[in-house]
Amino acid sequence: MPHTRRLIGSMYKMGIAILVGTFPLWSPPLAMTGALEKSPGAGESRSAQGEPKGSTNHWDYEGVEGPGHWAMLQPSYMTCETGRQQSPINIVMPRHGDNQEDLSFHYQPTTLTVRNNGHTIQVNYQEGSYLRLNGQSYKLRQFHVHDPSEHHIDGKTYPMEMHLVHQDDRGHILVVGLLMAFGKENQVFSRAGDLLEQQTGHRLPSKEGEVFADVPFNLMDLLPSNTHHFSYHGSLTTPPCSEGVHWIVLKTPIKISKVQGERFITTIGPNARPLQPLGEREIQEN
Ligand SMILES: [Zn+2]
Repeated sequence: MPHTRRLIGSMYKMGIAILVGTFPLWSPPLAMTGALEKSPGAGESRSAQGEPKGSTNHWDYEGVEGPGHWAMLQPSYMTCETGRQQSPINIVMPRHGDNQEDLSFHYQPTTLTVRNNGHTIQVNYQEGSYLRLNGQSYKLRQFHVHDPSEHHIDGKTYPMEMHLVHQDDRGHILVVGLLMAFGKENQVFSRAGDLLEQQTGHRLPSKEGEVFADVPFNLMDLLPSNTHHFSYHGSLTTPPCSEGVHWIVLKTPIKISKVQGERFITTIGPNARPLQPLGEREIQEN
């Protein structure tokens, strides 16, 4: 991502988009790496997220292109219907806690490139940040938000959920779900929003588009100190709904104010996929 750009127009991004879920999980590693990389204009220009409305790759959260119809929109979206390890899920008992996972976060500050891709607000993360799970490293690629939360805990939904998307060297995807509850104003978001607005005139890009700002931001500042979590095997929650995604949902929600939540909600609208059956899967509690 060329950081010399201060404010990005809308010319080249009709096709760039990168929400988790836009790329086939099991396509050749190169293709997937391309799709996850921050560099626009590379191989990911065919991905669904940035296609103009009416294109054959379009999908939505309601109506005839809503979640119940995703599999019909494209042959490559078939897993959304036929998959048996789909996400999100309601995280219910019994949960299995005998296999303690060793999880640690190693995130560095990034500067903000904030994109509204029509399905979510997404921030691509600069190189150098990763998490470690049981000795394996996963690079942090991007994060984005859903409202309301996609995962439920014992039937309870949250106002929002942030997804931190990671990838290991072999292309495996690990997503951390960070639940967001209403409470005090979140200073990390306020500071970033203030600086974004000063530099670009926008707190959040309101239409499909992107703003770049030289604002230091570290996801580390957002994470709860308690990293107890649930983990299970699932999928991308957007087309093509590819499976093989390692999900970690942190038990401790972070807080945002209602005003902050509403800013996201009015900008992106509801964007949560309905719950999927747990089936034969087990949920690990750590
Ligand atoms: Zn997501």
